Amino acid sequence: MTREERESDAGGMAAAAATAALGGLLQRIERPVALADGRGVIVAANELFRRRAGQELAELGGRTMQELCAADVTPLLKGTAAALSSDLTPPRGDGSGIPLSLSRLEASAAGGSPAAPEQAWFLLELLDQRVTLADLDELVAARCGNGAVLLHLEVLQLDLVRGRLGIAACEALIEEIAHRLEAALPPQGFFTRHGGDRLLALVPGSLEIDAVRAMAGELLSSLEAPTTVLEHVIEPSLNVGISRCPEDGREFAALLDAATRALEETHRQPFSSCCIAAPVERSVQLQELLARPLAMAIEQEQLELAYQPIIELETGRVVAAEVLCRWDDPVLGRQSPADFIDVAEATAQISSLGRWVMERAFEALHRWEDAGLDLERICVNVSPLQVQDPAWGSDLLLALERHRLTPDRIVLELTEGSILEMSSHVANQLRDLRRQGFHLAMDDFGTGYSGLQRLTELPFSEVKIDRSLISAIDYDQLQQAMLSAVIRLGDSNGIRVVVEGVERSRQRQMLLSLGCRHGQGYQLAAPLSDLELEALLQNQIAPAA
Ligand code: C2E
Ligand code: MG
Ligand code: MG
Repeated sequence: MTREERESDAGGMAAAAATAALGGLLQRIERPVALADGRGVIVAANELFRRRAGQELAELGGRTMQELCAADVTPLLKGTAAALSSDLTPPRGDGSGIPLSLSRLEASAAGGSPAAPEQAWFLLELLDQRVTLADLDELVAARCGNGAVLLHLEVLQLDLVRGRLGIAACEALIEEIAHRLEAALPPQGFFTRHGGDRLLALVPGSLEIDAVRAMAGELLSSLEAPTTVLEHVIEPSLNVGISRCPEDGREFAALLDAATRALEETHRQPFSSCCIAAPVERSVQLQELLARPLAMAIEQEQLELAYQPIIELETGRVVAAEVLCRWDDPVLGRQSPADFIDVAEATAQISSLGRWVMERAFEALHRWEDAGLDLERICVNVSPLQVQDPAWGSDLLLALERHRLTPDRIVLELTEGSILEMSSHVANQLRDLRRQGFHLAMDDFGTGYSGLQRLTELPFSEVKIDRSLISAIDYDQLQQAMLSAVIRLGDSNGIRVVVEGVERSRQRQMLLSLGCRHGQGYQLAAPLSDLELEALLQNQIAPAA
């Protein structure tokens, strides 16, 4: 054996001895902890750790922290799992994977002091199942991305127990139930006491509604077995309200709200001790998810505009362009305008969004005019909530003035649905704008219930036929007859008819033969960036030879 080999052999034995000593030390720590070496390989773990991670001690030895994370132990890790799974260099002392100082370990173990190998160690600690309310909040934020179930449990007879046996008996009963909950919860679950007679349990992971119901049923039956409190036999009785992430929200506060509502529902139902929150409406979910990022996107001008040409069907000439708002969030990805416009309306951000759209669109129109490009009008979508904003009208006029445009270059599009709900104040303001020369368009005609009559009540200069009314125009005679009627009405009242959603050339041909002059749709031109529209307008001046 060479000197190097002897030295390395001796070093290996010393390290093994040290590891064994550390393993013994771990057993004395009353928290679930394991020890990993500098490479992140687990060399020892205590019994508490094993039980909490649901793994045999023999299985744990030699596994890496990354493997543990992959085995779904992640929600149990104390500290940031990301720091553990991807990077074993010491993180900033947030309690996870800290390079272990032996003196720290010794202090925690309150006793023995093994020989220390001179190498970096990581102390890996799992959260106890019993956590605080603040921990639950953090757990939902950090570990429940893939879904979670929150159970809000209420012990029903506590008032009775308090009255008959006193507060100590109450405390003993709820603590007994807490112990049972600890034993009955799935290994990855957490719980906390909440107020005098409640418990909250969080189970990370995505579960179908039937599985949630089954889990709650099993939990209740194990919590409701008879117990003896101060020599009295009590059969605990519990109700539970349940919410799910992400269906009922992604934040703890929203989940708690929904679980509490579901718990209250159990009080209203005579035979039910378990209620699952009714799924929150999609619009509420969207609002929760998008409101803040949208505010930031508006403030930091991260929104963009697309321009969809409106084409003269006979010649193919671009006569106008509809301005469509686009939002590609760096974290959430591209969002549908139908969704984020709804959120902007619900959270009073529509005014600032609309002001930004107007400003950018007017600026572009002015720029194209300066460049000698021929675009008669731009069409801006307007929410009725914007019109209600007292500053909207003056902002519109100021923006127009700033970009030296005249009102006849601007089409204000209002959806048919919004017109139906419009207050007389808004209607008057729109009449006023029409008198000043702005064009008004009824957007998505055919999606609401207003008849043709409604078109003539407000001073519309344009009607945009929703694509659902022309989807089968090339072969459906009913659609053909309806469109003919709208075109006739438009012609006799000086209202321009534009059809939306032209997707096939056969639709275009039929539209032409029905006397429809203007269209918008993917077959004619998709929504374009400002540069793309500019190029199209350039070509229009000087068509390629
Ligand atoms: P809209 O005003 O009816 O706009 C037309 C929508 O139809 C656009 O959807 C457009 O991309 C889409 N489209 C165009 N051609 C075709 C086609 O051939 N087939 C089909 N299937 N769809 C076509 P987008 O951009 O998703 O906008 C959706 C709605 O969001 C708009 O409907 C408008 O109501 C609203 N919106 C967009 N931008 C704004 C904005 O700046 N302000 C306000 N208040 N609403 C906006
Ligand atoms: Mg529109
Ligand atoms: Mg439309």
